Amino acid sequence: MSQSPRIAILGAGPAGSALAAMLARQGIQTLVYDDEKRPALLVGESLIPAIVAILQRMGIEDRVAAISQFKPGASFIHHLGTKMNFNFRSVEGRLPPYAYNVPRPGFDDVLKDYAKELGVKFVKHRAGLVAHPGGTPELELDAAALEAGGYANGAKPDLIIDCSGRSRTSAKLLGIHAATGQRRDTAHFAHFTGIEHPHEPGQIAIMYHPWGWSWRIPLPDKLSFGIVMNPKSLPEFGANGEERLDRVLATDPVLSPLTAHRERVTDVYTYTNYQLISDRAQGPGWVSAGDAFGFVDPMLSPGVFLALDSAESLSAMFAKHGEKLLDSPERLAQELGRYEQRQRAWHEAWHELIEYFYDGRIVAFYERGTQLKADHPGRFSNMMEYISNRVVALMATGAGTLSIWNRMYLKSCSKWLLKSGRAKELALP
Ligand SMILES: Cc1cc2nc3c(=O)[nH]c(=O)nc-3n(C[C@H](O)[C@H](O)[C@H](O)COP(=O)(O)OP(=O)(O)OC[C@H]3O[C@@H](n4cnc5c(N)ncnc54)[C@H](O)[C@@H]3O)c2cc1C
Repeated sequence: MSQSPRIAILGAGPAGSALAAMLARQGIQTLVYDDEKRPALLVGESLIPAIVAILQRMGIEDRVAAISQFKPGASFIHHLGTKMNFNFRSVEGRLPPYAYNVPRPGFDDVLKDYAKELGVKFVKHRAGLVAHPGGTPELELDAAALEAGGYANGAKPDLIIDCSGRSRTSAKLLGIHAATGQRRDTAHFAHFTGIEHPHEPGQIAIMYHPWGWSWRIPLPDKLSFGIVMNPKSLPEFGANGEERLDRVLATDPVLSPLTAHRERVTDVYTYTNYQLISDRAQGPGWVSAGDAFGFVDPMLSPGVFLALDSAESLSAMFAKHGEKLLDSPERLAQELGRYEQRQRAWHEAWHELIEYFYDGRIVAFYERGTQLKADHPGRFSNMMEYISNRVVALMATGAGTLSIWNRMYLKSCSKWLLKSGRAKELALP
């Protein structure tokens, strides 16, 4: 069975399919297990420019563009009045100055079809694993998965890459603890027609409400509307997702005038407890990528980017060493350790940035900048505005999220804001 793929991937979401395609392009074949149980709607519809750069490197941007809505930027609207409009043009030169809003199942199909064209074999099977804690390997496919994948006569993959998303198959089986975020929000979302969107076409709108925040993501012919509500407010808005979405759209002072002719054209989907990052992402014979490793928070849409970036990182590891890396357990362990460090750094940087958006600092920072410009018009305030906008844009698009300089700039400029009463007023509950 020397022809059985030496790498098995669990899950054909963005992380799994992209990784399989990237490896196939290097001549490394993988076997991808997917249960094909995805719901009709999936979150992960708003992409950031750093993803476009990855799609370009994969050579499939045109395929994604064909099914998507062009996204020029993002607007953040606070219920107390402040509006922040970010346009991705400000990262021109560093990243493509735009992104896309994607119908997620369609986006996943583009990646999967591309991998299939490159010869990747997909097996419809929910792969089970067997754990040998502390062993080498620490995880193996179970007998049913081996059989479904055509592994016979004792043949087994040498590396299992867990891209099973929020199922977190490997971490759960090994009892690996996950650090959970502070928030316990509940997200409900659905697709609508008939909602007015008074923004540039494709611009996403994130709105701060007294109970949490909402998203409006324009898609071809539809609008994805979602609410992210803190647990205390849930009962006030109804007993379930349908009632809560409806209540918000009917009563919110900003949204209700835009939604008089709305029609919900899908079921309502609910997500809870999504902020968590595993304490360990790899071990002998396995590694996790995308949501299977962790997810920060949806506010700035980093999820699909982290899924594709983790795929690109693992692919780069094999591009450097070739498939023979699988024959050197020590080197493989070192490389996987480096991969984990890098992914962890990404998660920390996104987490740090998202905190500014939750605790009111970014809105207060923006308000102060606008005030400075009004009170002291001229070169200095213009320069400060330019630098601040660029730093925030670089960080929120993925171009400069990891940059120590950007992080220091934002930290030092907004240090005093945490103590300011205004940041507290603007913070999300
Ligand atoms: C409320 C909310 C809003 C979000 N909004 C955005 C957004 O706007 N933009 C953004 O970029 N991200 C967003 N995200 C995050 C984004 O959805 C995820 O980060 C992204 O889908 C992760 O991709 P993945 O490939 O790691 O996992 P997934 O997309 O979850 O794919 C995993 C796949 O594995 C399959 N699977 C699971 N177990 C097994 C098994 N044992 N065997 C075989 N197959 C298996 C599943 O069926 C699935 O197909 C949001 C998340 C939440 C919670």
